[in-house]
This record gives sequence, C-alpha cells and structure tokens, in this order.
Amino acid sequence: MSQGETAAVVKADAYGLGADRVAPALAEAGARTFFVAAAEEGVEVRAVLGPGPNICVFSGHMPGDTDLIRDAQLTPMINSIDQMLMHVEALPGHAFGIQLDSGMNRLGMEEAEWSALRDIALAQNPFLVMSHLACADDPDHPMNSYQLNTFRAMTDGIDAPRSLSATGGILLGADYHFDMTRPGVGIYGGMPFVDARPVVRLELPVIQTRDVLPGETVGYSNTWKAETPTRVATLASGYADGIIRAMGDGAYLWAGETRCKVLGRISMDMTAVDVTHVSGAPDSLELLGQHQSVDTAADWAGTIGYEILTSLGHRYDRVYLNA
Ligand SMILES: *Cc1c(COP(=O)(O)O)cnc(C)c1O
Repeated sequence: MSQGETAAVVKADAYGLGADRVAPALAEAGARTFFVAAAEEGVEVRAVLGPGPNICVFSGHMPGDTDLIRDAQLTPMINSIDQMLMHVEALPGHAFGIQLDSGMNRLGMEEAEWSALRDIALAQNPFLVMSHLACADDPDHPMNSYQLNTFRAMTDGIDAPRSLSATGGILLGADYHFDMTRPGVGIYGGMPFVDARPVVRLELPVIQTRDVLPGETVGYSNTWKAETPTRVATLASGYADGIIRAMGDGAYLWAGETRCKVLGRISMDMTAVDVTHVSGAPDSLELLGQHQSVDTAADWAGTIGYEILTSLGHRYDRVYLNA
C-alpha cells in the first residue's frame, strides 16, 4: 500500500479508449492529477475536466507550446535547462515540474544538468520531481534498483514531491512509490498488472456468412484452404481498426462460449472467422472481453497490450458503462 497520491495517465486519448469520457470518469473516482504526452492533449483534457485538476505534460515546455500551457493551465514536466529557461522567460511564475533521467535515456535532465539547475529550480517550488523506470515490467531486473538508487541520490532531501513509478513500478513495492504514482495501462486492464480487470470489451459485427467446400480458399493470397465443409463469417473490422495483421491465423474470437478461429489473412476492413461450430447465426463475435484480454491479442501479434489498446481505431462505436 502507498500513502501517496495516485495520478492517472491519459496520454494517447487515454490509451485509445477516449480521454473525453475516461478522464472525467477517473476524476469522478478521485484522480486529481493527470498526465499527457503533449500540450495539445492537455488542452483536450482540460476542456473536458474544467478548472481544478492538475494536467501535467511529459514532453515539458516545447517551442510553440507557451499559449497552450498558459491558456489551458497545464503543468509542463521540464526536461532540460533549455526548457527551463524557455518556461521561466515565457511564463514566469507558472507551475512546472521537473523530469530527471535516472538511466532510461529517454527524457529528463541527467545528473550534471540537474546539479547545475537544481537550486534555482527547487527555489521555485516545482509541482513534482519525477523520473521513469525502463524495466519495471520485469521485477527481477537489476535496472530497477539501479534507477531507484540513482533517483534517490538525485532527489533525497528535497522538499518537492517525488514520483518514480508507472504501473510496473507500483508493483515493485512501497520503496518505489514516493509521493505520487503514475499508472496508465494498469487502469486500462493491461499487463504488467496481472490482476487488472479487463475494462475493454470489443465486439466485431458479422457482415456475411457463407459455406465453403473442401478445396476452396478464403481471403488474400489463398493462405487458408478448407479441408472440410466450413462456415465462414466475414467480420466488419480489419487491421485499419487495430486488428493487427500480424495476429494472423493464430487469433481467435468468441461466439458466446464457442471459440472461433481466424481464417487466412486479416484484411484492412474485414476478418474471416470459422463459425462452423457456432449454433445459430451470430450477429457479432468478441475479440476482447472475459475470454481473452488485450495481452492475449498482443501475444498473437508479437506486441504488448499497450499497442493493442492504442491501435483501436476510430470506426468503433465506443459505449461506456458506469461512466
Ligand atoms: C506512459 C507513461 C506512464 C504510464 O505508464 P504505464 O506503464 O502505462 O503505467 C507513466 N510515466 C511516464 C513518464 C510515461 O511515459
């Protein structure tokens, strides 16, 4: 258990789920601090949340962001001395946070830069001093304790609140929690939070069903050929909707309790599925839900649940329950 604040990461349109509905639901659930990747996303989140909640921007204060940061009252996580100078010059007195690099080498100030800026920055009461873990999805990775020690060495003794962990770091234990945690994927039902509730259900409508005979083929490049009489449903979603083509014919969908195999190549807008053993004519088949998660689908495509979520396209009708 952590005594700190739990912020909510809603970047990339709340991991593809619709920040306009997800952010207010999280605010309703008690979240007071939100993180986005870019100022433009922060503007959208501010528009739905209204004044009050903190909206922090991981990319910091980039050239061209000043008006957005001021008008939408965003809190940039400053990543460099250059950004710090730009921020205090353009928006003196405006809230900011500091992002430190503790070893990931992606964003944030490194030790030398931080030493040079530290006293000046801390004198202006930053909202937060944060860093990010590179290997937190692997609890046994030595990088975790290395980054923890580096972050501590850079920040022990400061008055400003500190934050190190996203979903994976939270699961590493209280040492990693500091004053604020920043879960994203764990909120949305994905690994590395093994016990996460699946929050996304994805049903794909059946456009047409047909019977194919032994020897007939289905889909592009004839990669699947019937060996027995087969009933084939054509679904109205394909790789343009995030049904990643690389899932290929290792993927399954569900008609109620019946598992149905994907047949042949996934097309841009359509996917063929074997519904031979399904009784009746299903209107739709389920790709994500109680039977299989975003991480199951990710495994088929050789990717991670994050990419499945953020690939969900714009053609779906998104229906929100209890939100
Ligand atoms: C995306 C991101 C998060 C959230 O990560 P999850 O693994 O989805 O919990 C937190 N902090 C930073 C800096 C991020 O880029």
